[in-house]
Amino acid sequence: MAVTRFAPSPTGYLHIGGLRTALYSYLWARKTKGQFRLRIEDTDTQRNNEDAMKAILEAFEWVGMDFDGEVEYQSKRLDIYKEYIQKLLDEGNAYYCYMTKEELDALREKQMANKQTPRYDGTWRPEEGKTLPLIPEGVEPVVRIKAPKEGMITFIDGVKSIMNFNCSEVDDFVIARSNGMPTYNFVVTIDDALMGITDVIRGDDHLTNTAKQIIIYEALGFNIPKFYHVPMINNPQGKKLSKRDGALDVMEYKRQGFLPETLLNFLVRLGWSHGDQEIFSMEEMLELFDPSNINKSASSYNEEKLLWLNSHYIKNVSNERLANELEYFDCHIKGHDKKEIILDLCKERAQTLIELKEAINKIILRPTSYEAKGTKKFIKEDTIKFLEVYLQTLEENKESLHLACDYEVITKPFIEKFELKFPQLFQPIRISLTGGTQAPSVYDIMAVLGFEEVKSRILTAIERNFG
Ligand code: GLU
Repeated sequence: MAVTRFAPSPTGYLHIGGLRTALYSYLWARKTKGQFRLRIEDTDTQRNNEDAMKAILEAFEWVGMDFDGEVEYQSKRLDIYKEYIQKLLDEGNAYYCYMTKEELDALREKQMANKQTPRYDGTWRPEEGKTLPLIPEGVEPVVRIKAPKEGMITFIDGVKSIMNFNCSEVDDFVIARSNGMPTYNFVVTIDDALMGITDVIRGDDHLTNTAKQIIIYEALGFNIPKFYHVPMINNPQGKKLSKRDGALDVMEYKRQGFLPETLLNFLVRLGWSHGDQEIFSMEEMLELFDPSNINKSASSYNEEKLLWLNSHYIKNVSNERLANELEYFDCHIKGHDKKEIILDLCKERAQTLIELKEAINKIILRPTSYEAKGTKKFIKEDTIKFLEVYLQTLEENKESLHLACDYEVITKPFIEKFELKFPQLFQPIRISLTGGTQAPSVYDIMAVLGFEEVKSRILTAIERNFG
């Protein structure tokens, strides 16, 4: 039974990298019948937590992931952190350091000039037989942890296997600032321990933080959770993903017409695989996901795959669902009596809900203009003449026109009789009916619209001379 958590800093929105680690944590908690907790890491920020919370919860609601228990806010837990800082001080595992910023800067400069890695030199670290400097007046001290000076900090990462940090790489880092505020690594450790987190799944940019956090776990005698450090998402050029590449607010994917299933499926595969399977329903993810199978190397954001997955889900979710999703885009196909057939027709080609909406609108709304490029190419001197004759032919047979094939039966002989090429007739009809040349099969559109509407749209196009 895994207790996992998602611990965003409230930056105002949820980013897809964050959603991916949240998804992995969620899947692992749900799969093992454990718990998935939310903690807002808001000690370092002036931002409005309420707004950030709303944005984060909105994104989770959209993708259908829920949290267990109360949301924890670090800003409300300061007393708890202070208690543990005091405990470390009392037990001699932490100490006050009165070095001023100027002294620290001077130390750093000296070390850098000697080509050493800058690190705290232990001036205020209590040691047996060592006399500490006199406490200067007017300096508010920071609290530093007494980190081990020798040996290794070792842990088994579930993704990267054994991780070793030489203690000489980690100095006595600050756990409380001079204003008493605890630092990031300290609060994360306290929270993970007190919230009973068993499995921490997070980005591999936190690896060195983990080494520091382990020092705190050990100093306080807490159980150390299992860690899974997930490699980053890169752009197709192998660089860090930027906003332009798709490092967007999760809700931007909604606005761009992606289904939440698409995004989750896309993210689960971005860093994890199960054979060569690409499509995963939530049930399959829950059955198959295991954080030990997270890829060891960085993954690459692939927009084509995102679109491919979205077309897959657009084709495969119910029409009822699509109609509901389309309401968000002001496309009200929901109450339309031909909803099913229109959606069946349009969803075949749509890569996003926006494209689906555009295709639907071409059918349910009369064209307000005619695409200039198509008109120039396909509307010739004799077009209007044979459109009129074609309409007459349809009119003569209107009682038998119901299905797409009924239109086909009338149209094929017409084309043969007048020795036309298909586009010569079909494109002017398409333009008349939809305003453009990109649309599903003409027979299907005519069947959906019905003869009277077809006639009216073609006559309007003729009247307006396609302009
Ligand atoms: N607030 C941290 C972040 O947003 C969380 C890191 C962690 O999961 O421990 O990167």
